[in-house]
Amino acid sequence: EYKLGRRPSRDWDAERKIWLSNHSQRNHADSSSPRLFMLTGSQPEPCPAEQGDHLLLKSFKNKVDYCMLHGVQMYYNTAILDENMDGFWSKLPLIRAAMEAHPEADWFWWVDSDLVITDMAFEIPLHEYGDYNLVVHGWESEVFEKKSVLGLNAGSFLLRNCAWSFRFMDRWASMGPKGRIRTLSGRIQSAFLTDRSPNDPGDDQSALVYFMIKERRTWGDKILLERRYNLNGYWLDLVGELLDNRTTAPPFVTHFSGCQPCSGNHNPNYGKQQCRNAMELALNFADNQVLKSLGFRHCTLNSLNVEPLISV
Ligand code: UDP
Ligand code: MN
Repeated sequence: EYKLGRRPSRDWDAERKIWLSNHSQRNHADSSSPRLFMLTGSQPEPCPAEQGDHLLLKSFKNKVDYCMLHGVQMYYNTAILDENMDGFWSKLPLIRAAMEAHPEADWFWWVDSDLVITDMAFEIPLHEYGDYNLVVHGWESEVFEKKSVLGLNAGSFLLRNCAWSFRFMDRWASMGPKGRIRTLSGRIQSAFLTDRSPNDPGDDQSALVYFMIKERRTWGDKILLERRYNLNGYWLDLVGELLDNRTTAPPFVTHFSGCQPCSGNHNPNYGKQQCRNAMELALNFADNQVLKSLGFRHCTLNSLNVEPLISV
């Protein structure tokens, strides 16, 4: 069976424990709060869509801003670490490699490139995740009863740095290798899930839903479907909230699923301009929260220009 990474996962929990005790001085500073490490990235090549790279840059800046404000480590990956796992599957070999390379990190947070953090003040409640190892935004009934591919979103999730995660990722990745396996797993996913296009090759989100249902007894007790806050949020549901400046608690994350700003193959159900405007709005909305400390704000939420907060 396909395995992620070259080395088999050994007794990672024990190894990591030893590493942490050997490096206790370096880790002493804020040992009480769990350490979060953000992983994100995009394809090695330039975006084919006009202004796609510009949107990626703004979206990257948004993530850097969040990480700087919250003392979160981050890595932006533009390499395909495993040629069998290209496209959206590339996140899995990346997380696998980062877990081994960063034993100091307690949790990894994968975020898609087309996702904007729209509440820069929000802190992920890692200390509340107790025995859970994987936290994904989603709904129990949509996943387990409806068997819907949209029951959760794999564009933003938290994974604990532990041996369980290595085992789970191997299983998850088994539907990913390109070619025959990915074609076949796409058919299995479409037959099993109720709302998936029949001819799509296997994708990571469908694979996650599939294994969560099929192997619930093996993995279920360690996976939390979070919905108390927007660890992920669908942009079409949220732009209204962003525009309404009376909103006291903005959505944490606004994900531009289907907009495909880099490839340009956006979902035909909404216009390219609608996506574009909403992305700009979300980026400026978030940027205003950062600019505030410099004494500036965007002239309007759809303006690239800024003005001083207090005019003299
Ligand atoms: N991605 C990557 N390298 C690639 C292709 C995709 O790191 O070569 C990441 C990127 O962050 C993207 C995510 O994988 O947002 C999901 O990919 P998908 O093709 O589903 O794009 P999206 O739906 O997010 O636009
Ligand atoms: Mn996405």
